[in-house]
Amino acid sequence: MAKTLDLVPVGEWGFFTLPRPMVIAGPCSAETEEQVMETAKGLNEFGIHVFRAGIWKPRTHPGSFEGIGTPGLKWLQKVKKEYGMKVATEVASEKHVFECIKYGVDMVWLGARTTANPFLVQEIAEALRDTDIPVLVKNPVNPDLDLWIGALERLNREGVRKLGVIHRGFSTSQKIAYRNDPQWKIAIELRTRYPDLPFFADPSHMGGSRDYLLELSQRAMDLGLDGLMIESHCNPSAALSDAHQQLTPPALKELLESIVVREKDTDSREYRDGIVQLRAQIDIIDENLLYALNTRMGVSRKIGQYKKEHNIAILQTSRWDSVLEDMKKKGRAYGLSEEFIETVFNAIHEESVRAQNEILES
Ligand code: PEP
Ligand code: MN
Repeated sequence: MAKTLDLVPVGEWGFFTLPRPMVIAGPCSAETEEQVMETAKGLNEFGIHVFRAGIWKPRTHPGSFEGIGTPGLKWLQKVKKEYGMKVATEVASEKHVFECIKYGVDMVWLGARTTANPFLVQEIAEALRDTDIPVLVKNPVNPDLDLWIGALERLNREGVRKLGVIHRGFSTSQKIAYRNDPQWKIAIELRTRYPDLPFFADPSHMGGSRDYLLELSQRAMDLGLDGLMIESHCNPSAALSDAHQQLTPPALKELLESIVVREKDTDSREYRDGIVQLRAQIDIIDENLLYALNTRMGVSRKIGQYKKEHNIAILQTSRWDSVLEDMKKKGRAYGLSEEFIETVFNAIHEESVRAQNEILES
């Protein structure tokens, strides 16, 4: 049984103007004073109040741009002063926390690689003790819900009560379209366990490309999440990190206007928790079905190749008849009608035979 968290409601943080989505936006990295100020100006112009910018960047390869470091904190101060925005950055050590406190950073987040490391989380939690700085915890890189919860517990035990999470997807060795695998079921599980925990999605790091931002943001809203953290840069193609996934402020405005956000009053909440969530689950299952179908077709083509090399005919009806009988029997155990199983598997089989014939004739 999960422990409860002692939380200050996000409405009392004084950061976000409700209703959903609460938005945090800004560049992947603070690069220059001009880039920071111009991006913040563009975002402020359409009502974004919380500005993000990475100051210390966890990069895969040494020699990549690893963040501007402490000098960038002065630019964040300037954003606060000129535009009255709240500013947020990623911390990965107690040193980062102390620098943030010194320069008046309003909010910090733990990156995916940091959440995965309890030593660092503990060190950061202790450095934040006696401060009032809200902390958002990204999911760990690996799909481990307990590790994510453990990080929340560590922070909460040191007195961090303005606490929230950011779902940015999980590393995967599978070839998928997105940069990180959303595995929404893990987010849903966390949401169910801690319904009062402010919950953001980060479609930028999840998708890894501007092309996926809208569908992922919409999905996050359909699942009832509270907010979005999205990367925005005044000149994305010149960005020193994550150039493919950043949007200009006007493009972000357009994206946010295209998202359909359902009401959160009592009636629609019931609706959201019911049908909308189920539909989102169906979408995920459909994607899994597609993945399975594609994998099956791959194997089927290999069989075709193999048959060709051994000079064997494509169609062995007796084998297919027995496969179908077996599927019908198994389907019955799941309460799936024979007719349905026959329709689905005959369609799959037909496509396999077609693909194998192609190979034979090639
Ligand atoms: C970031 O937000 O810039 C970042 C590095 O994200 P993540 O920890 O999700 O990779
Ligand atoms: Mn980034």
